[in-house]
This record gives sequence, C-alpha cells and structure tokens, in this order.
Amino acid sequence: MGGLRGPGKARRKRSQPREACPYCRRPALFFHQCRYCDFFICQGCAEDNDKIFSCNSITWPCPACGKSNSF
Ligand SMILES: [Zn+2]
Ligand SMILES: [Zn+2]
Repeated sequence: MGGLRGPGKARRKRSQPREACPYCRRPALFFHQCRYCDFFICQGCAEDNDKIFSCNSITWPCPACGKSNSF
C-alpha cells in the first residue's frame, strides 16, 4: 500500500486543453503527444495509422515536425 499523501491537498483540477483527437474528433483518455511540437493523436488513431506509428514500437516519427518520439 502506498503511503498517504499530505493532508488537505485536494486534487487540483488540471486544465487539459486537448480533449478531442484532431483525427477522429473524439475525446480520448490517452494521447500520444509529440514532445517537440503540438502534434498529438489518440491511442485509437495511432493504432489505425500504423504508417505514423510504424511497427517499431519504440519510437514514432511525428508527422508534423518529423522528429522521433519515444513511447
Ligand atoms: Zn483519434
Ligand atoms: Zn512534432
């Protein structure tokens, strides 16, 4: 069991600007976010677009900036 956190620290409501995937326009729980630019894609689209997310499951090239991100 994890230790209790300090008392009285309510969970901060975090503002999440991106809640809908730009590809499928659906809200998703988890996004892959490029760490170099603002590109992001939901898990479902990532699996559908396996040319973006190639078989190499260690890195994925960002289609927006072309840099490699690691999972
Ligand atoms: Zn999507
Ligand atoms: Zn990028």
